[in-house]
Amino acid sequence: MSSSARPPILSGLAVHFGALILVLSLLSSGVITWISVRGIESFLERRIERRFPEALFSARERVDVWYGQRELDVASFANNRILTEALASPKRADRRAEAGDYLGYVLGRFPQYAALVVLDGEGEVWVQVGEGAELPTSVRAALATTERTAVSPIVELEGRSFQLVSAPLPSSRATLHALLRLDAMGTLLADGANNERSALALVDVDGNAIAGTDPPPLDELPGDGRGTPAIVHHAGERTIASALPLERFGWKLVIHEPYDVAFAPVGNAVRRAWTGNLAVVIAAGLLAFGLGALRARPILALAEGARRLAAGESGVTVPVSRAGDEVQLLARTFNDMASRLAAGRLELEMRNHELEAANEVLEQLSITDGLTKLHNHRYFQDQFERESRRADRTREPLALILADIDDFKRLNDSLGHAIGDEMLTQVAEEMCAVVRTTDVLARYGGEEFAVLAPATDLAGALALAEKVRLAVSRASVTVADEPEPVSVTTSVGVSLYCGDRRECFERADRALYAAKQSGKDCVRSSEEESAG
Ligand code: GH3
Ligand code: MG
Ligand code: MG
Repeated sequence: MSSSARPPILSGLAVHFGALILVLSLLSSGVITWISVRGIESFLERRIERRFPEALFSARERVDVWYGQRELDVASFANNRILTEALASPKRADRRAEAGDYLGYVLGRFPQYAALVVLDGEGEVWVQVGEGAELPTSVRAALATTERTAVSPIVELEGRSFQLVSAPLPSSRATLHALLRLDAMGTLLADGANNERSALALVDVDGNAIAGTDPPPLDELPGDGRGTPAIVHHAGERTIASALPLERFGWKLVIHEPYDVAFAPVGNAVRRAWTGNLAVVIAAGLLAFGLGALRARPILALAEGARRLAAGESGVTVPVSRAGDEVQLLARTFNDMASRLAAGRLELEMRNHELEAANEVLEQLSITDGLTKLHNHRYFQDQFERESRRADRTREPLALILADIDDFKRLNDSLGHAIGDEMLTQVAEEMCAVVRTTDVLARYGGEEFAVLAPATDLAGALALAEKVRLAVSRASVTVADEPEPVSVTTSVGVSLYCGDRRECFERADRALYAAKQSGKDCVRSSEEESAG
C-alpha cells in the first residue's frame, strides 16, 4: 500500500481549533458590540436630553409670538378707520353694512378666524361676519367690558372650541371679537416637531389636549419647568416625553416620541454590528478550521502510518513537510523507525527461510542413511506403521521384502571396509532402479535392506523380490589387483502383512533365514515356509 492515503479532513483537532476560534471571536465581537452600543445609547440619551427641551422652548416661543400676533391682528382691525367711522353713526344701516363688508374682507384674508363680531356697549351684536356661532348673552356681557386687547381661554360654542381675541374700538364703547380656530394652533405645533415621528401637543390645566397629537399623561412627566425628558408608557408603546409650562392660559406644551424611533440608531447599529461580526466570526472560524485541518493532516498521516505499521504492513512512510517544526521531526523519526523496522523484518524473514531450509535438511538427514542415501531404519519403521494402517483400512495387500547380502563379512575381510562400503552404495543404486516410487526402500541394518510394497500381493512381492535379487547381483565394484569387478549376491525373504507388523517382520526374517539355509542368492516367502 502506498503511503499517500490522505487523512480525513474532518479531524477532531481541526474541529476543536475552529470551534475555539469561533467561540473566542464571537465573545470578543459580542463585547465590542456591547461597548459600542452602550456608547451610541448614551450619546443618543444626551442628544435627547438636549433636543427635547430645545424643541419645547422654541415651540413655546412660537406659540407666544403667534398669540401676540393674533392680538396685534385684532387690535389693528379694531383701529381701522372704516370701522371707527362706521361706529361714529351706529344707527345708520349703510355704515353698519360698510363695517360688515370691511370685516368680511378681513376674514377672507385671515382664515385662522372663524368669525368677527362687533358688540356695542351693551353687549349686543352690532355686526357679525363669518360662520359660527352665536355668542351667548353671558359671554357677550363679559366681552362688552373689554378694555384692552386680550385672548380668552377656550370657549365652547355649539360643540366647537374657539378662543376669542378681543380688542376695544377707539372712541366708542363698542368692542371687536375674533373667533380664533384652534386647529390653526395644531398646524403650528405640527410644523414645530423636530422629527417626523416626534409630536408636539398643547394641554390645558386639566390635562386635556387642546391641539396637536395625543400626548401622554402629564402627571408622569417631570414638572421641573426645564423640559427634562422621561420614559413613559403611552398608547401601548414606550415613549420619551417632556413638558414645558406655557405661562399664557396656564397650559403646558408636551413633546413626545416613540422610544424605538428615538433610539432607532442603536437598533441599526446593533444590526450592522452583528452582521459584520457574524461575517468576521464565520470567516475567522473557517480560517481556523482550515488551518487546523492543515496542521492536523501530518499528525493524522502519522497516526494512519502507525496504524498500518501496527497492522504489519511494510514500506510505510509518511510525507515529511518542509515546515521545520516538531511535526516534521516526528515524521522524519517515524520514517526512520519504519524503515529500520522493515529492514529488521526482512532480515528476520531471511533468517527464517534459512532456518526452514536447514530444518528441511536436518529432517531429510534424520530419515536418510548417510552411506547409501536410502531411507534409514527409523523412516522405514514410520512408513511401515503408516502403510499397515492404510492396509488395515483399505484391505489391500502389503508386502514386506528383506534382503541380506550374502557373505558380506568375508568381502570386508578380504577386500577391506572401503570396498564393502562402495559395494553397499552400488547395491543401493541398483535396488533403487527396480522399485516403484510408491514402494519404500530402506537400508535396514549393516548389509540388510527392506522394501515395503503397498497394494502388492504375494505373486507381485515374489516378483519384486526376484528383481531385487537380480539388481543386487548387477552391482559391482572394481578393485585394484583384481582382474574382474567384484560382485555380490543376496538372499531375500518375503512376507505379506496380515494385521500384525511384528509378526509380518518375523515371518519375513524367517523366510530370509530360509533363503540363507537354502544356499543363499535366492528368494523365499513366509507362505512357502508355512506351507512347507
Ligand atoms: P551371511 O551370508 O550369513 O549373511 O554372512 P555374512 O557375513 O553376510 O553375515 P554377518 O551378519 O555375519 O556379517 C555381516 C557383515 O556385514 C558384518 C560387517 O562386517 C558387515 N557390515 C555391516 N555393515 C557394514 C558397513 O556399513 N560397511 C561394511 N564394509 N561392512 C559392513
Ligand atoms: Mg546380515
Ligand atoms: Mg549377510
